[in-house]
Amino acid sequence: MWYSKLSNKALWKAFDEISRIPRESKHEEAIRAYLLDWAAKHGLEAKTDRIGNIVIKAPATAGLEKLPPVAIQAHVDMVCVKTAKSKHDFRNDPIAIICDGDTIKAKDTTLGGDDGIGVAIALSILGDRTAEHGPLEGIFTVDEETGMTGAINIDPAIVDAKYLINLDSENEGEIAVGCAGGIEVSASCRAKAEKAEGIPLKVSVSGLLGGHSGSEIHLERGNAIKILARYLNRLPSFQIASFTGGTLHNVIPFSAEAVITVPDRDVALSIAGNLRKELENEFRESDPGLKFEVKDTEMPQAALKRKKSQKIADALFCLPHGVRSRIPSMLDTVETSVNLATARLEEGRFTVLFSLRSMIDSKKMALVEEIQTLLEGYGFSSKVSGGSPAWEKSDGSRFAQEFIKLYRKITGRKPEIRVLHGILECGILAARIPGLSAISLGPDVKDVHSVNETLSIASSERLADCVRKMLPLLK
Ligand SMILES: [Zn+2]
Repeated sequence: MWYSKLSNKALWKAFDEISRIPRESKHEEAIRAYLLDWAAKHGLEAKTDRIGNIVIKAPATAGLEKLPPVAIQAHVDMVCVKTAKSKHDFRNDPIAIICDGDTIKAKDTTLGGDDGIGVAIALSILGDRTAEHGPLEGIFTVDEETGMTGAINIDPAIVDAKYLINLDSENEGEIAVGCAGGIEVSASCRAKAEKAEGIPLKVSVSGLLGGHSGSEIHLERGNAIKILARYLNRLPSFQIASFTGGTLHNVIPFSAEAVITVPDRDVALSIAGNLRKELENEFRESDPGLKFEVKDTEMPQAALKRKKSQKIADALFCLPHGVRSRIPSMLDTVETSVNLATARLEEGRFTVLFSLRSMIDSKKMALVEEIQTLLEGYGFSSKVSGGSPAWEKSDGSRFAQEFIKLYRKITGRKPEIRVLHGILECGILAARIPGLSAISLGPDVKDVHSVNETLSIASSERLADCVRKMLPLLK
């Protein structure tokens, strides 16, 4: 057994068992069945809701019944990524764990330390009859990675906890006490093609670093759609024949491409040359790999009218992207941001998608209104979808203060208090479940969502120990 020499056997046995069970987001049947079976074997009550979340309840240790009910929370699903040569089947195969010094990783796949370690810590404590605690529950949510639909749709009736310890953060020593809320705005306008005229050119923006629109929006990286629009906006006249930029709502667009026609090739190339120089200077720190190219291409069959093309380019040029505001008392933390995530011309319509985040719900909605007003002015109709409330900074709450005090006492370390621009399930749970206070922490996990994901053994064991010691003291 890879964990036979590690100190916290119960923790790593739980992690090992979880790693053998397929748990891709939205395909969580097997891991859910495992948890229900685990609860039954340990004689613990388990409750489920319609979306598939599971809550396992361990009664209080004798004498500690009066303590407030506490939950340890983690998500059961994992991001399934493998190397190009890997034959791993995420629906059937167990994760092959490699233990190397202080770290564990997986052979050719993501490890699922995010958030398998959270599930394992919760199980190792729930299943330990010598652990002291008040009424304790493990909240195991489904589908965190592809939409947080478990947390969003949790049935509050299955949760008794007043305090929630979320174990889905990635740096030991940091405690998150707040996170952004999010929402999406999608918009489209009719974009009928007619005969293309002039000289065809392919404009492409590539080599940008992109990144996550929550955790990396503050890095001031280029948005390929905005750069492409900046070029089009400078052209005196053009027709758009094709346009595609961006990938997912939460990914900063790292590439975009358009085929256009122009009346004067030399003018278009000269404008491109000037812009390239500006871009190379502007993005030399954030995106040294940036490539902006305008090349000859084949004549497209059809393209949008000049006026429509101009209007779309104007819209993309003027619509906002990036950090909007920072928290006044924590200027290194983003408060409100928007990712102009995708833009494409397809099937006679031009569509755009924005993903917004803010620590203050009303600021998020004000930015939605601003974007919708702009879109309307450029002939787009828009709609708002998704949406999770902000988890407002709670470090003043009694629970957070108590937790931080105990954390210092138990670990001898002063934690860093963080507010995340990413969205955490515990923020959604705190908003959905009346009277629930939450904090989020986790062991050192690196390169999550990639085949290089690693988890620190010592850090995981320290965290498990800290949570276990904290439980009987939380009042
Ligand atoms: Zn996670």
